Amino acid sequence: MDAWVVAHPGPVETRPLERAGLPDPVPGPGELLIRVEVCAVCRTDLHLAEGDLPPRRPRTVPGHEVVGRVAALGPDTAGPPPGSRVGVAWLRSTCGRCRYCLRGAENLCPASAYTGWDADGGYAELLTAPAAYVYPLPEDAPAETLAPLLCAGIIGYRALVRADLPPGGRLGIYGFGASAHLTAQIAIAEGATVHVMTRSAAARELALRLGAASAGGSADPPPEPLDAAILFAPVGDLVPVALAALDRGGTLAVAGIHLTDIPVLNYQRHLFQERTLRSVTANTRGDGREFLRLASLHHPQVTTTPYSFSAADRALADLAADRVEGAAVLIMDG
Ligand SMILES: [Zn+2]
Ligand SMILES: [Zn+2]
Repeated sequence: MDAWVVAHPGPVETRPLERAGLPDPVPGPGELLIRVEVCAVCRTDLHLAEGDLPPRRPRTVPGHEVVGRVAALGPDTAGPPPGSRVGVAWLRSTCGRCRYCLRGAENLCPASAYTGWDADGGYAELLTAPAAYVYPLPEDAPAETLAPLLCAGIIGYRALVRADLPPGGRLGIYGFGASAHLTAQIAIAEGATVHVMTRSAAARELALRLGAASAGGSADPPPEPLDAAILFAPVGDLVPVALAALDRGGTLAVAGIHLTDIPVLNYQRHLFQERTLRSVTANTRGDGREFLRLASLHHPQVTTTPYSFSAADRALADLAADRVEGAAVLIMDG
């Protein structure tokens, strides 16, 4: 099969991705073989390609926002029949036995494995995935608008949950890429007032079009104190900025898997009055199912920038340079 692999992790200008012909993957027990229709490009793919997240195995196929169809079932697999449309997301598997799995926090499982990091992902014609970890997807939406829901959407949703936004509350969103634009729409549909802070003028316009109450520069103070905030930009310098924008008792959730260093915080200005700073680590399957349910209820507009499969390296370079509006998606040829 035709695929892209992370051949030489390093700056995107050095072309870390390489196109490769690989043997067709074979589904093991409990796994599905899936033919890829569309794979969305996540910022995590960029972190993997650039080596911010060190490779866990050589020459891995990235990509963990996959919409495809079941092509075959492995041995002893109870799963959706061939032809079913399914989504493959970042969380590939967990142990099911550790203290975290047993208390419903499988996102913290030390033995968890991730699509496109511990196993080959969706920048390829085919991939395998455990049947218990794929999501059934509706037939009535185009694959390219479903794909970004699978990481950008799900992780953003978990960040929203972790931000503890009270009903009808005031939510600040720092950074406005693929994940943020979906999260903002779900929050607005559920009754929140959303203020967006981002450096990109185009993203500020998009935020206002999608119903944000205000849109300012990335370090600008919002027009009112925030009950909750989510930091989507991978910029540690914005942590004190966002904490200072919180009202008493407010919570800041950091959505990214990678963040530059956080500067020294001042207890009075940034944390006192019971402000809370939280990280967000992957997601549970329950988060995924709940987000996909909300998405089919509220139909968020999914802004995408399409690329042909053969332009995966260009899609990553454009993402690195902030040239992508919404989510970049790779469309399989044919
Ligand atoms: Zn576990
Ligand atoms: Zn992702």
